[in-house]
Amino acid sequence: MKTLKSYVCGRWHEAQDGFVTLVNPATEEAVARASSLGLDVEATLAHARDAGGPALRAMTFAQRGALLKAVSGALHEHREELLDISMDNNGTTRGGAKFDVDGATGTLAFYAALGRKLGDRRLLADGEGVQLGRTSRFWGQHVLVPRRGVAVLINAFNFPAWGFGEKAAAALLAGMPIIVKPATSTSWLTARCVEILVEAAILPSGAVSLICGSTGDLLSHLGPQDVLAFTGSAATALKLRAGENLLKSSTRVNIEADSLNAAVLGHDVRPGSETWNLSLADIVREMTQKSGQKCTAVRRIFVPQAGVDSFIEMMTERLGEEVIGAPRDGSVTMGPLATAAQLTDAVTGIARLAEVAAIVHGSGRRCDGVGAPAGKGYFLEPTLLRAKADAADGVIHDLEVFGPVATVIPYAGDAASAAAAVGRGGGSLVTSLYTDDQAEAESFLAAGGAFAGRLYIGSAKVAELLPGSGIALPQSQHGGPGRAGGGAELGGLRALELYSQRVALQGNRPLIERAAGTAD
Ligand code: NAP
Repeated sequence: MKTLKSYVCGRWHEAQDGFVTLVNPATEEAVARASSLGLDVEATLAHARDAGGPALRAMTFAQRGALLKAVSGALHEHREELLDISMDNNGTTRGGAKFDVDGATGTLAFYAALGRKLGDRRLLADGEGVQLGRTSRFWGQHVLVPRRGVAVLINAFNFPAWGFGEKAAAALLAGMPIIVKPATSTSWLTARCVEILVEAAILPSGAVSLICGSTGDLLSHLGPQDVLAFTGSAATALKLRAGENLLKSSTRVNIEADSLNAAVLGHDVRPGSETWNLSLADIVREMTQKSGQKCTAVRRIFVPQAGVDSFIEMMTERLGEEVIGAPRDGSVTMGPLATAAQLTDAVTGIARLAEVAAIVHGSGRRCDGVGAPAGKGYFLEPTLLRAKADAADGVIHDLEVFGPVATVIPYAGDAASAAAAVGRGGGSLVTSLYTDDQAEAESFLAAGGAFAGRLYIGSAKVAELLPGSGIALPQSQHGGPGRAGGGAELGGLRALELYSQRVALQGNRPLIERAAGTAD
């Protein structure tokens, strides 16, 4: 069995004890083991801060962009191997594996191109300069400079490649060294990504470190110039963000957490119309891609009362076409959940939903998978529920069942009342609205825009261009309010703000403009 190592202080650390076993979720066979026991966290932090930080800050954006391009290229060269690891340790189909791995290399390439465009600068001007005095000789300009600590990047189990790539791209381009900590259960893929980068000797010493296994007491050593970028459950987020030293030092913390994303069909959308079909295709994809283990997956589907029966009929027909099984079997369209614990949580969660909603597709229990040994594997059919009439509040808006599970919620009122119902989820990463009606879209935005980090509006005019609401495109912000963590990642250059300090420069205009790089 493969033993995953950590990469710290410019060398590989192999633990001797304390291992967690990683399994193939389709067969339950052990595939690797990971432990970080014996790791010196203070030395790890010091090496990143003292070697990686200065090396990255000495580079221009163009040079950091060139590093990201090389990182993206090196990972892409090993694409087939990375896809195999994803199938064997994450249980993703080849399509799901591509979503993760190509998402990582694509996002890294996107930030590489931004770095190239920023050119020979080392700091970023933020907004326009402004006259501060009686004359324009006294001038103000905000700039972003790299923070002088280390960025600790903790990721969830479901995106071991993309989660790593999207955080790494922004931090490295901003000029911060990174310590990468993947979820242990699926850490093989991230570990291999870092190994590829180390083998290719792309990054300066200390720019990237990897911890496979527990972080030990690393977070209690973070200080005012460090960043903690966390993706995972709300429960872990709460524990981490309450860390005394993080609060005391005002360490910057970004949280990407649970999200009960909603899809809303507008009243104007007739069964069988192009926009109706678009919504069905999107929602089925969001429920089943990566077996619904996406933070952006649709969990609540708001359908106008009059169309609910047709909607459910068409959804169940499509969900019935899914072939659940081992990702290596060519006929399979949806793999297992990633771990035994995820399956248990999903089955328990469905049972709780079933108290206020009727299951209209799926059994809500483990099933056998095509191409997998009988009785083995964490397989779960896609499960669609229909909210009972009196289920307006509570568990449907509160419980994230992290699997191929969604609940249809009939609604009668206008777009604004649907938006208010979406808001009961307490804040989401993305809400998708399907409508061809300008007024409907605007009234939904006004009433519900504040409840999500992203509003994805599907309509007939853009149907053929839309990638689905679940894709976190690097140009657009990823992160949502409230239960989604209140964080923000991606969004083009906005992503660099997390890893930078904003400084309000004030002084003589020519000096300020030359320093900020805004002089003509
Ligand atoms: P999790 O159990 O909260 O774990 C997330 C990460 O935190 C893992 O790397 C875990 O490492 C680490 N961790 C746990 N306790 C820690 C501690 N005391 N100190 C330092 N690190 C610690 O979440 P998960 O089960 O992996 O992921 C599923 C959740 O993530 C879902 O709720 C999903 O909605 C959310 N998610 C959100 C987004 C988003 O962008 N908003 C994206 C993906 C997933 P170990 O594995 O070693 O415990």
